[in-house]
Formats: sequence, structure tokens, C-alpha cells
Amino acid sequence: MGIESEEVVSKNFIEQIIEKDIKEGHCAKVVTRFPPEPNGYLHIGHAKSILLNSGLADEYNGQFNLRFDDTNPTKEKVEFVESIKKDVQWIGGNFEDRVFFASDYFDQMYEAAIKLIKKGKAYVCDLSADEIREYRGTLTEPGKNSPYRERSVEENLALFEDMKNGKFEDGAKVLRAKIDMASPNINMRDPILYRVAHMTHHNTGDKWCIYPMYDFAHPIEDAIEGVTHSICTLEFEDHRPLYDWVVRELEYENPPKQIEFAKLYLTNVITGKRYIKKLVEDGIVDGWDDPRMVSIAALRRRGFTPESIRMFMELVGVSKANSSVDYAMLEYCIREDLKLKRPRMMAVLDPIKLVIDNYPEDQVEYLDMPNNQENEELGERKIPFAKELYIDREDFKIEPPRKYFRLYPGNEVRLMHAYFVKCESYVTDENGNVTEVHCTYDPETRSGSGFTGRKVKGTIHWVCAKEAIPAEVRLYENIIDEEKGVYNEDGSLNLNPNSLTVLKNCYVEPALKDADKYDSFQFLRHGYFCVDAKDSTKEHLVFNRIVSQKSSYKPNK
Ligand code: ATP
Ligand code: MG
Repeated sequence: MGIESEEVVSKNFIEQIIEKDIKEGHCAKVVTRFPPEPNGYLHIGHAKSILLNSGLADEYNGQFNLRFDDTNPTKEKVEFVESIKKDVQWIGGNFEDRVFFASDYFDQMYEAAIKLIKKGKAYVCDLSADEIREYRGTLTEPGKNSPYRERSVEENLALFEDMKNGKFEDGAKVLRAKIDMASPNINMRDPILYRVAHMTHHNTGDKWCIYPMYDFAHPIEDAIEGVTHSICTLEFEDHRPLYDWVVRELEYENPPKQIEFAKLYLTNVITGKRYIKKLVEDGIVDGWDDPRMVSIAALRRRGFTPESIRMFMELVGVSKANSSVDYAMLEYCIREDLKLKRPRMMAVLDPIKLVIDNYPEDQVEYLDMPNNQENEELGERKIPFAKELYIDREDFKIEPPRKYFRLYPGNEVRLMHAYFVKCESYVTDENGNVTEVHCTYDPETRSGSGFTGRKVKGTIHWVCAKEAIPAEVRLYENIIDEEKGVYNEDGSLNLNPNSLTVLKNCYVEPALKDADKYDSFQFLRHGYFCVDAKDSTKEHLVFNRIVSQKSSYKPNK
């Protein structure tokens, strides 16, 4: 049962806040934003934030902005801007033409700082970074006032202008808010608003040598864009009093409101930019979009759909408590999404030849096969059948274990959508490996012929040796060894040596010859597969396994 069929949907705590604000007349139009720092590719955690913010704007007929939080000149890279836009759009974040850059607001931020100085709410401080830390106090002890705290408004204005004009070295002076050095919340103990940094910014070049701090810049960015609900993750909860102080002291008419929710974590899955970057730089993975990762680009390349990711986020929900979600839930969602939508094909990943001794030498028959047995709308196709086929090695055993109903000497099985075949003999090489299985077929038993003479317990898939297309198939496991956890004792990542298996000798049905990049299919009994967008060509098809066929996961509802 899909989640679409749920009728009563209870509101999450953010929806409740928004509805109260609307009802009480505090919010004429809901405006939300997704504010990534352009310093890496987006991952599944960001997808949660995108879908949450964009979803709320849709739900309340509001507006969703994409804003690059590029106030920090050290890390941002232009190359990430395009990838982020593409990923936000792909996942379904509907920002239309509303792409903003925080660095475009530097003038307004500077004006805002002047306003605070004039109100006596900000001062230039000459303490060094170490001294500032010392003066700040601890969780149990109050801080003490900076000796520069009582500078006059005029002096502060002049010094701040000098800061702006490049008169001071990096770190020589900062602008601080004048709040309360004894506040129980350390974020309120005269936090830094502006620092001197002689650095070139990717957008504003060398225009500025002072840059605003995040806690000062972010509320201003929100206020300028008319954001009503500024949704961020839990680690900013202690910063909310400062957020509120900034928008109050700057006297914005309809101040934005910060709301925190818990980050999405996947059990045993790496999402931190730092670690992903390391895997990329160390050449352990094939770039940011390696299908074993959970960057949005990687999920897309692996074959996940935006629909499956959206379904996943619905199941996960929005909460205030940190927790970790099982990756199997994401797999459940992609199976659910593709199950009825995509064709079911036959592919043999580890081939051995099956020869039908009593089938005419040069004959090829074209049998009918539904594209998806559970969805007639996808129609039918013809599959070639001939004397020589390939089957998967694991579907034949010389000595069958208990309850093995597939091929073994003397046993009869159904070849999917074709005939019954009975194993008569087999051939091995000098090492005892099976190279050929010989069968006879019974022409009466053709699928769809209405044959009821006898039954068989096993059905196996196959492809026609002459017409099948060779393909490469890549199977994936978690890049982290699940049993042992994400980190080793020395802090290094605990990599799974089997995270990638490349099968170079597979055969797929000829119907797949025109498969295009990102096309996905069910390969019967093997799971769901997607044409690799980077390495697959018409001459050399490469498929990624998105997910295996079966799972133990059931969403609890
Ligand atoms: P990371 O360090 O994992 O790359 P980040 O927080 O540094 O993440 P930003 O570019 O600052 O990345 O994040 C943009 C937005 O995405 C922020 O509003 C942030 O709260 C949100 N976000 C980041 N990670 C997650 C997550 N795991 N779950 C939900 N939201 C997240
Ligand atoms: Mg960040």
C-alpha cells in the first residue's frame, strides 16, 4: 500500500506554527528558502530541507527561494552553484526564477551594522581572537566586558569605516553586538558581527575586506527577501535569541521567524561534505556522483527518482528529535515507485549456456511477454527464443540442495514466458565448472497455450544467446561496513571492500538495445537497474543496480 492512499494526514509542528501565524494575521504570504553554501554537492539531507521548504510554500500558496549563502569568501566555488541549481530543480524544489545570492546584500548588511552602531548596539573591539575567547566566560561562568565596549558612537562609526576601508590587518579589529556578557546563552555575549578579512570574493571581488558573520548575515538575508519562516536545523536552536535580537534591533516590519527541525541522518551512510570530499580526493569513489554515495547527483546516477525521494521524505516526516533512518527505507521507496512504472525484462548476470537438444537448429521464435504483468498499460513485447539460451549460473545445480526447484539433472522447470525444459545432461570444463546445460523442451507447454497437463515448481529467466546484448552490470553495497559502523578507532572511515562488484559478462534482452541514460528497468528476479549516465554507450551498455528485488523492510504505519 502506497502512502498516497493515506487519507488523514496530521500536521507536523512546522505546519502548526505556520497555520497559527496565518490565522492570527502575522503572515499574509508564506515565504521559505533553501540557503546552501556553494561549497560542495547537495546530499540526501539537503533534499529533506529542500522538500520541506518548497513543500510548505506550495502547501500554503506561498513562495520558495533558492539563496546561495555565499558570505564566506574562503570556501565558495562557482562550479557548485550550477550543480546545486540543477539538483534542487530535479528533486522538485520549485524556485522558478528566484535565485538569490547573500553576497548581493553586502551593502545592506553594512548599512545594518551602521544602524546598530548608531543605536549604541554595536562596537568596534580590538581584543584578539584569543582574548575574546577568554573574556567570553564559560557555560557556568559569566563573561566580562571588553575594555572597548564603551567606545562612543562617533568613534565606533569612524573605526568601522576604517575597517571597511582596509586600514587594519585581518583579525586586528571586529565589530561586536553589545548585548550581555553575562547572558546564560553564550551566543548572546557580545557576538562578533563583522570581521576583517582581506580576501577576494567570487562575486564581489575585492570590493570588501570586511565580511559579516553568519549569525548576523542570515537574519538580514531572510528579512530582505521577506522570508516568513526561516527553517534550519537543530544546531541553530541556541542561536535563535540572537536571530531574534538582530531582526528586532534592525526594526524590520515583518520580521522572519526561525524554526528548527532535526537533520536527516541515514544509518551507516556518510553525508558530511568533509568525508565525501575525502573519498573523492582519495580516488576511492568515482567522483561526487559515484552511485554508492548519497549526494543528489549520485542518487540520480544510481537510478533513484525524485518521486522515490519525495516518498521517502514523507515517510520520514519532520521532527525535533535527532534520529537515524535506515537506508532500507529509501530502497523500499524506489521499489514502490518503479514497480508499476517500469518494464520488467530478462537479464542474465552470470551466464551459462542452455542448449535445447530437440529444438530445430536455425529456428527463432518470437514469444509474447507483457512489459509489466501488474500493469497492462505498459503493453507487450516479443522476445526471441531459440535452441541456445543463457541462464544464470545459480539457476542450475549438479546436486540440488533441499527445496531447490530450479534446474538439476532430471528436473523440469518453466522458462519464463516460454516452455518447460527438462535437464538431460551437462558439460563441465577441466576444473569441474559447468559450461553447458542440455535440456529437452516440450512444445505443448508454451506459455499462453492453455497447457494444463502437468505442473513444475520452478520458473527461471533466460535470454536468447544469438540475439541477447552483452552488457556490463555494476552491483553495489554500502560503502561503509554496516556491521562495524562508520568509523574505525583511529577516526578513518571503515570502508567495505565489496561495495562495488563489476560484472562484465552479462546478457540482456535485445529490447534493451535503445536504452538511454537514466532509463530504469526491473530485471526479473535481480532487482531494479538503471543505465549509467556516465559510462554507458550504445556499443557498451552499463547498468547500475539501484536496489535488489526483495527487502525485509516494511514501513510501520
Ligand atoms: P553538510 O555539512 O552536511 O554538507 P551544511 O549544513 O554545511 O551540510 P549547507 O549548505 O549549510 O550545508 O546547508 C544548506 C541547508 O541544508 C541548511 O539549511 C541546512 O540546515 C540544511 N541541511 C544540511 N544538512 C541537512 C540534513 N542532514 N538534514 C536536513 N537538512 C540539512
Ligand atoms: Mg554549512
